[in-house]
Amino acid sequence: MRYSVTVPDQEYFDRNIPCRTACPIHTECGRYVQAIGISRDEEAYLLARAPNPFAYVLGRICAHPCEDACRRGKIDEPIAICALKRYATDRHNLGGGHDPARKLLPPAAKRGKKVAIVGAGVCGLTCAHDLALLGYSVDVFESAPVPGGMLYLGIPHFRLPREIIKMEVDNILARGVTLHTRVTLGRDISFAELRSQFDAVLLATGLNKGRELNIPGAHLAGVYNGIDFLINANLGYEIELGKRVVVVGGGNVAIDVARAAVRLVNESSGATEPLAGRHGASGAEATQPEPAATESLQPALDAARMALRSGAEQVCLVSLESRQQMPAWQSEVHEAEHEGIVVENSWGPKEIVGSDGVVTGLRVRACVSVFDENGRFNPAFSDEEKVIPCDTVVLAIGQQADLSFLGGHEDVQVTPRGILKIDENLMTTAPGVFAGGDVAFGPRVLVEAVANGHRAARSIHVFFNGKSTKTVLSRFRIFNNWEMPRGFLGIPRQTMPVLPANRRIGIAEVELGFDEAQGRAEGLRCLKCQVNTIFDGSKCILCNGCVDICPENCLRLVDLTQVQGDERYEALIRKRYGMSAANLSPGRAGAIIKNEEKCIRCALCAQRCPTQAITMEALEQQEREVFE
Ligand SMILES: Cc1cc2nc3c(=O)[nH]c(=O)nc-3n(C[C@H](O)[C@H](O)[C@H](O)COP(=O)(O)OP(=O)(O)OC[C@H]3O[C@@H](n4cnc5c(N)ncnc54)[C@H](O)[C@@H]3O)c2cc1C
Repeated sequence: MRYSVTVPDQEYFDRNIPCRTACPIHTECGRYVQAIGISRDEEAYLLARAPNPFAYVLGRICAHPCEDACRRGKIDEPIAICALKRYATDRHNLGGGHDPARKLLPPAAKRGKKVAIVGAGVCGLTCAHDLALLGYSVDVFESAPVPGGMLYLGIPHFRLPREIIKMEVDNILARGVTLHTRVTLGRDISFAELRSQFDAVLLATGLNKGRELNIPGAHLAGVYNGIDFLINANLGYEIELGKRVVVVGGGNVAIDVARAAVRLVNESSGATEPLAGRHGASGAEATQPEPAATESLQPALDAARMALRSGAEQVCLVSLESRQQMPAWQSEVHEAEHEGIVVENSWGPKEIVGSDGVVTGLRVRACVSVFDENGRFNPAFSDEEKVIPCDTVVLAIGQQADLSFLGGHEDVQVTPRGILKIDENLMTTAPGVFAGGDVAFGPRVLVEAVANGHRAARSIHVFFNGKSTKTVLSRFRIFNNWEMPRGFLGIPRQTMPVLPANRRIGIAEVELGFDEAQGRAEGLRCLKCQVNTIFDGSKCILCNGCVDICPENCLRLVDLTQVQGDERYEALIRKRYGMSAANLSPGRAGAIIKNEEKCIRCALCAQRCPTQAITMEALEQQEREVFE
């Protein structure tokens, strides 16, 4: 094995590892996937855990932008990176008290500054975790009876078991974070008090108010707001659903089974009073939905699946979007249908129909397009209408922030979208008051909230005149005999085993996780993007051997004049020949153009090269951040 150290073009190498680049916390996804493939489970766990105090949670429900970027997806299907994170974390039970990640993150000496964090969601707790490790005194204030934010309040048990949340939150609290539950900023403690008692404040209050819909009938009894419905169901409060519930849209509910399911949940939460009431019966004002309302359909799907589990006989989900346009993950839509939920695409709610003040149906009209020619949310409808009979309507059309706690503090500005205005360091317009997560960016995903938590902690540290210095240690590992695992291209993406539909009752988790054979097989599918074919132009004799042997046809040998006009190569050509490609005479020089997306790192080009002009090299980089 040889090593070299100069990194000529960092951006090129980053681009070549698209999974890591796509991850908001730059998880070394490829490396943990590969470690699982060769049975190095603890190494895989440490790689997955290093940037992420919620690695167990995200192994189950991450939006996995890494998979969308995965190059294997261009060949057949992306690596099941999220499922492999679960595989790695499932093999390290934090509850057993042994967390090998502790050695990664040793705590610093105490620093004498106090930080208040409002909201014990993923953003707030990640920030608390980092600040505690940096030696700050951290108090987290949470209005719910339990920490976890939407992990606990929004996402149902059957997608995320509560022991997993508890285990991860306990592990964060064990770093020296003080948690105060049932404390609502603006009610139990004022913003002024908080600001006077702490040296800095992070607002990570999320979006816990559902958007309402300004259509006739929205005030009828039997109309629920999706977020209220999920919060109440997840905290174990009794919800009276009908038999046919439409989640917006709609469906049918069997009240007896719903009660039984709700009681089952109640036992584990120990909850005693509802957090938010059903708004329909109290006749709350309906407001016009804003464009952001369709940004995420996950709450709609979760509400629909939760309704079915609560005992509804028929649950129907009405979506403005066509099946292909639905923002929900297709796998989740598939599971919902598998459980008996009917998805009605391309219909929009027009009126909630009622009799004697109670819902009897939802009138919908056919949606012909959701976005206008400028790509803005602006649905257009045809004259076609129908009424879907139902007795419960759950409106799950988006969320908004409740910023009532700001009352009178005009120095913390709010954007026209109703979220907190922040700068690039996540500081609001008031010095010392920071904001992160959904309340600062609008509805997003968990891994972004983790990234915000880290960023907020770093910014708060710098605000206190602390310093953070990042160093990156780089080296190229040059392989003499590089080989990909035998048959790796033939291995199909492993399918997540799931509980049979007839056993999906109550809180039972639907996804069961890969077994060992699946984990190893999936790990071996990785294309190992960190390994690059490095071409040494001074040794190349332009024999075309590499081009001939490449099984993926990803190499082309061309005259240098043919790449003129291509900005990517122009700078390189100028550097080497002192002139633009346009001024070179034909036949003077050649170039090998490589399609990185198609390369499968098989190394046949390197083996074939008669002059050893091609080497297989992995760029290994280790980032170290020192906080002073
Ligand atoms: C139903 C649903 C399903 C989702 N599914 C997924 C998924 O599968 N994958 C994914 O990646 N993302 C998912 N998301 C998105 C994800 O949950 C959010 O992006 C993430 O939770 C945002 O984290 P946060 O810390 O900013 O806010 P939150 O998680 O919302 O946490 C905010 C916390 O602040 C507390 N709070 C609010 N106001 C106050 C106050 N005044 N005083 C004290 N405390 C307060 C709240 O009670 C809450 O605990 C889902 C969202 C929902 C609603």
